[in-house]
Amino acid sequence: MSILELTATELAGQVQSGSLDPESALDAYFGEIQKSESHLKAFLLLMRESAYAQARSLRAKRAEGRTLGRLAGVPMAVKDNLLIEGFPVTCGSRILQGYRSSYTATVVERLIREDAIVIGKTNLDEFAMGSSTENSAFQITRNPWDLERVPGGSSGGSAAAVAGSMALAALGSDTGGSIRQPAGLCGLVGFKPTYGFVSRYGLVAFASSLDQVGPLARTAADAALVFGVIAGHDPKDSTSLVSSNEMNAHGLELPKDLNNVVVGVPKEFADASGVDPEVTQALEKTLEVFRSRGARVRSVTLPHVKFALAAYYVLAPSEASANLARFDGVRYGNRASERESARAADADSGEGELIGLYKRSRTEGFGREVQRRILIGTFALSQGYYEAYYGKAQRARGLIVQDFEKAFGECQILLAPTAPTPAFKVGEKTDDPVAMYLSDVFTIPVNIAGIPAVSFPCGFSRAGLPIGAQLMGPKGSDRRLLALAQFFEEATEKAFIRRPSMGKAKKATEARE
Ligand code: GLN
Repeated sequence: MSILELTATELAGQVQSGSLDPESALDAYFGEIQKSESHLKAFLLLMRESAYAQARSLRAKRAEGRTLGRLAGVPMAVKDNLLIEGFPVTCGSRILQGYRSSYTATVVERLIREDAIVIGKTNLDEFAMGSSTENSAFQITRNPWDLERVPGGSSGGSAAAVAGSMALAALGSDTGGSIRQPAGLCGLVGFKPTYGFVSRYGLVAFASSLDQVGPLARTAADAALVFGVIAGHDPKDSTSLVSSNEMNAHGLELPKDLNNVVVGVPKEFADASGVDPEVTQALEKTLEVFRSRGARVRSVTLPHVKFALAAYYVLAPSEASANLARFDGVRYGNRASERESARAADADSGEGELIGLYKRSRTEGFGREVQRRILIGTFALSQGYYEAYYGKAQRARGLIVQDFEKAFGECQILLAPTAPTPAFKVGEKTDDPVAMYLSDVFTIPVNIAGIPAVSFPCGFSRAGLPIGAQLMGPKGSDRRLLALAQFFEEATEKAFIRRPSMGKAKKATEARE
């Protein structure tokens, strides 16, 4: 079997036992990067040198007879909004170009502690705001299944890297769907943990009450392996929950059948408009698989979930406007030239040079979508409007939380599509922010409620594009969700765990050009 076909669990096992040299694993992955990265543009930074240095130190560690970690030798990609000391972090933004991290995110530290090898940092929508990775200031990442299409976003670089066999697993961040939606669009497993299970220390904040780091991987078992490594209490993150067995357990306990499982299908999601019929069909088949293994299926209602998107687009921009205030060209961020700043100050007479500097630096540094969110958030939080917008959105959030709690009284898990459509074309939604926002109708309620959810591949469209399904559960049901995703993989004999044929994708693009 070729190295590229090994799962993370298998590859780590072989490196631990000494039957696979970590450098050979890296050779295989960097070989794929050499072949495909110029088409996919998934990475903002390749860390070849440090990766090989780490591979050599792993080899030495083994030679000394020391036990290797749970992710021994696994080549991993990390979204470029996570800090790694000494390396650049751009968040896909010009404002951070040239900045180097002064410390390492807890999640990355934990990967390295378990001997994973970080091979590069991946492209994203600027500050994780977007659903297609087209909001990156630097490059457009392509979907390995069809190079004319987006990989989803905002963790599109991480998804394209794994789907394109350029990394074995990756970290993303999910504020409103940014792990699950790209996983869905690229045929991967993407997992958004219970809020507070994974440290946010060293993740550049977008919307702090919604952000959570999680894995993108080829299989549910691989996602669970990475989740087990990054989860757990971190005293450096005040919203981090105290460790529970649920977070730290190793491996997944697979049920033998689903006789005691009740799967809820939210009526509001089933009736949602704008869902591609092929997605609906794939979901029905998925439900059929669960039913055939003994699960009972019932319709449940989440009456306030219809307000989730609207509430999110008040809450997330509000938090973002506060979080992004630090990028002012002084404390953080590129500073506009003094000449430009003076000119800006002149234009806004009476404001003085400092305000001019802030304005110019932020205007140059932030792209359109980020500016839009900062404006919305600043407006929503301004005196006189706070109650009407932020206060109301918070109350909607409370109602949505209660809806889920009530639903989980009637069923253990909920099933819904991950995204309304398979991957859309590059450029298709860039001029229509609301159409773009609608790609997350099914994922955003999960972040609003702070619950875990996993997206897993459940079908293919006639055009050969992957379709994702999403399982949601109550807080703390993280491992159970991953186990059920693995159960589905096995029940369907891994029929949907496939790799795109990059050769075909490249030829198709060349023919079109
Ligand atoms: N697409 C959503 C947004 O633009 C969610 C992004 C995310 O999860 N980071 O805000």
